[in-house]
Amino acid sequence: MDRHFSCIACGKCCAGWLPLSINDALENANLFPLFLLWTPVRQGAKSFDLTAKIGFTLKLKNRKLAAVRLTPMSYIPPQINCPALSEDNLCSIHERKPLRCSTMPFSASRDENDQIDLLIPRPGWECDISDNAPLVYKDKKISNPDGFLSERKQLLTDSEILKPFAQLMLDSKPALKMELEKMAVRPHGGNVVVGFLPLIHRLANVDINQFAASQLAVLENLIGITKENPECADAHKNYVQAAGELRAII
Ligand code: SF4
Ligand code: SF4
Repeated sequence: MDRHFSCIACGKCCAGWLPLSINDALENANLFPLFLLWTPVRQGAKSFDLTAKIGFTLKLKNRKLAAVRLTPMSYIPPQINCPALSEDNLCSIHERKPLRCSTMPFSASRDENDQIDLLIPRPGWECDISDNAPLVYKDKKISNPDGFLSERKQLLTDSEILKPFAQLMLDSKPALKMELEKMAVRPHGGNVVVGFLPLIHRLANVDINQFAASQLAVLENLIGITKENPECADAHKNYVQAAGELRAII
């Protein structure tokens, strides 16, 4: 089926978790609360092969495999707008917005022939999907795949850093491995969120003190915003823990 799509810049999709490349994360350490998301995908799922390629595979106790993707992200609860969204609902960093935002509504972490449901706006989104909007997807092919291909290339480049880092984390943190194994066999899957700091220690040319100071300011702001909201309790807890880890190194 063909799909038409045009963004009218309503800003409604600019809320909640935002996956980031490593570069986008580092460049926006003064804006986004940076965390790492581990996402297991069961064998047989549509995105298993691609996830195994940009992530890694994990042997499960039932002798099956899970593909696991490790994603840097701006960890914002769905009730809260992206910190880069301005009051007029426009992106304040439009000229240098993250690759993930440039590729929207497509996703390079899915196969090109598996994009069609991403072109159906979620409730409340004001995207133009009428026949007047440009034809963006035809015969399971993206009409202009430049952004999609750039994001895919970046995912593969980042995986060269993230794969060995993930292995190191799993070898040193049996509790994390057990949590992933648990998520991988749950009928509806799940994610594990951990702090970003361990990855920083593995990246070259990063001023750790500057990173920590930037992130601490971001987290302290979000701790204030989320503290009275029970729907943001998980995020609040993670912000408090990450802020404590950052204070310890400043
Ligand atoms: S960075 Fe800009 S485009 Fe991306 S989610 Fe935030 S406000 Fe929206
Ligand atoms: S919800 Fe649709 S129209 Fe609104 S900013 Fe996002 S992509 Fe654009």
